[in-house]
Amino acid sequence: MSGGDKLDFEIRPNPAPVSAADRAALLANPGFGRVFTDHMVTIRYAEGKGWYDARVEPRAPIPMDPAAAVLHYAQEIFEGLKAYRTSDGGVTMFRPEANAARFAASARRMAMPALPEDAFVDSLHRLIEIDREWIPTVPDGSLYLRPFMFASEVFLGVRPANEYLYVAIASPAGAYFAGGVTPVKVWVSPDYTRAAPGGTGAAKCGGNYAASLAAQAEAIEHGCDQVVFLDAVERRFVDELGGMNVFFVYDDGTVVTPPLTGTILPGITRESVLTLAVEAGHRVEERPVTFAEWQADAASGRLREVFACGTAAVITPIGEVRYPEGQFLVGGGEPGQFTMGLRQRLVDLQRGNAPDPHGWVQRV
Ligand code: PMP
Repeated sequence: MSGGDKLDFEIRPNPAPVSAADRAALLANPGFGRVFTDHMVTIRYAEGKGWYDARVEPRAPIPMDPAAAVLHYAQEIFEGLKAYRTSDGGVTMFRPEANAARFAASARRMAMPALPEDAFVDSLHRLIEIDREWIPTVPDGSLYLRPFMFASEVFLGVRPANEYLYVAIASPAGAYFAGGVTPVKVWVSPDYTRAAPGGTGAAKCGGNYAASLAAQAEAIEHGCDQVVFLDAVERRFVDELGGMNVFFVYDDGTVVTPPLTGTILPGITRESVLTLAVEAGHRVEERPVTFAEWQADAASGRLREVFACGTAAVITPIGEVRYPEGQFLVGGGEPGQFTMGLRQRLVDLQRGNAPDPHGWVQRV
């Protein structure tokens, strides 16, 4: 693609899609990340040529040379967002242009070419259109969209690759909380950090997640669902969770979340929560919060609610915090009123069940 041209997608329908009966059986209980739709989008990039060969094609393995650069130096980025079935049979996507912008920002940090943002959004519309029947109709179900891009050049030199492959796949997902929303337990990692100043913390690159797995495993060993990362310099400030941003709600109604200083992922749910909290009349602050403050304010009762937020679980109350020296509850370990109200507000918006004054919802 040369400057400003729109990318044309060649459509190659899958000649052997999953049968309607098999699909219905898979959609009855899809879980997360194991069931996939019939198609994928691919777009290639080569230095000097730009973006080319945009296709919607049958989902299939990707042949890869053992010397493909991504397998050695991890030049890879991804995104995650959802499409929802509306009560009138339509389909919505929530703020896909925000994911497109973050994808481009991640690309720049990883010295990769930035896919034009309209091509990113367009690719998801194409995928949803052709695999529409794969969107679960079960309550709280969704179609999880996973766009990603990696260095496909066959070359072992350590430098930005000259060839890339962009791919978008889709995976039906069931309800995140099968038995209703339940507060999670989190583990504050004493040893591991996620991102240092100047590092890749604000980019959604695969390497960040590879580096977080040992910490997440430690959280699970301690009976927790998610790890909390503290800042890498002083080990005092709360950064974020393994895959979610974190919010604190105080007794005077103030809503606080750590600022975007380059070490945390700028979550789209985080940004939406900040907007909705202001609209609901709350004072919001983006400021550093220490773990010591979290402990003290939970003990005094000044801190009423803590929640995590992200695409996967929307908004998740945090009920208990564990760390090597002990543990404590927040809000008696029960979901808080602000947390649950905001969750409902966001879910209604995402699923097209509420007026959309911000223009966040795209119909497909
Ligand atoms: N932080 C991390 C590390 C994440 O992986 C995610 C999920 N993308 C988030 C925060 C939340 O981001 P979003 O609200 O855009 O899903």
